[in-house]
Amino acid sequence: MKRRRFLETIGAMALGVGAAPCTLWGRWSGGPSLRSQVSKNWTWVHGGSERSSAEWRSDFARIKRAGIDAVLVSGGETALLSDAAHAEGLEFHRWVWVLNRNGDGWARENHPEWFTVNRNGESTLDHPPYVDYYRWVCPTREPVREYLRGVFDEIASDQNVDGVHLDYIRHSDVILPIGLWDKYDLVQDQEYPEFDYCYCDVCRETFRELSGSDPLELPDPTRDPEWKQFRYDSITGLVSGLADVVHARGKPITAAVFPTPDMARLMVHQDWDAWPLDAVFPMIYHSFYLEDVSWVESATREGVAALPAQRPLYSGLYLPSLTPDELAQAVRVAREGGSAGVALFEMGGLSDDHLVELRAVSGR
Ligand SMILES: [Zn+2]
Repeated sequence: MKRRRFLETIGAMALGVGAAPCTLWGRWSGGPSLRSQVSKNWTWVHGGSERSSAEWRSDFARIKRAGIDAVLVSGGETALLSDAAHAEGLEFHRWVWVLNRNGDGWARENHPEWFTVNRNGESTLDHPPYVDYYRWVCPTREPVREYLRGVFDEIASDQNVDGVHLDYIRHSDVILPIGLWDKYDLVQDQEYPEFDYCYCDVCRETFRELSGSDPLELPDPTRDPEWKQFRYDSITGLVSGLADVVHARGKPITAAVFPTPDMARLMVHQDWDAWPLDAVFPMIYHSFYLEDVSWVESATREGVAALPAQRPLYSGLYLPSLTPDELAQAVRVAREGGSAGVALFEMGGLSDDHLVELRAVSGR
């Protein structure tokens, strides 16, 4: 399938979605904000590797000189990484997987019922789709929400942490990016039951109480606006609770999301323009969608237009698909599209030539 046809196809599917999402922005007030930043650049960092404090400082100094202002760090020792980032003048945000709990041995062992179930009745715990690490918990379940609020409260209460960054805050892909279809030998021109979540007992019962229907008995669950909205609201409700606990600690909360609001709703049930976050980081990874670099501008523009005024959007860029020249082009077109800066995936992919271009285009 050619790329234009992919976007046309998912655009047509999105038209069946129904009512526009309502914003939850008004549900919290105050708290820290990233709005004052005019332009700011970020990078994701895999912090789990065994490096000394001096080695991290060296890495962080290198990216700071090139125009990076903040790091989003997964794994590793919080105090060691945070001290190194702060010493080099970088903000330190914790990057955390939320609904994909493959690495959560406690949840897997103690709460197998928490894991999402597809339209064929298979749990991601026993039948992870696509890849072996796709094991997801259900955001509709209150015990899951309570557990995750506790996880994020603990992270946000750490004085070394400047902010919290959500990842995998979505359902498993019902439609994969077209650039990955060949890899998995798939053609996802509709929502197939083995990839469609969540039909667990709690989701079915909660939806039945709201609508009078069991989602499994809908004439076509893939095109039912109420059932789609239910799943958007389920994730949005979880995000809202996480935002409350992080804001109560006086910290900002942000998230990595799919490239545009329409694509996010259709592919992974993310209604991210309705989420009460301090900033969003759409992963505008053009190569995943067989697009060229210029697409970064239009995707950025769509996201900015959907968000409340002044809420920052940082365009996520995929370094393995960008030469140094193309990185500079992507930063420029993201800016044209209204971004507040860029976020690069990830630090290990930044060559010296990338950094030269980034510094020049960032005016640092
Ligand atoms: Zn469920």
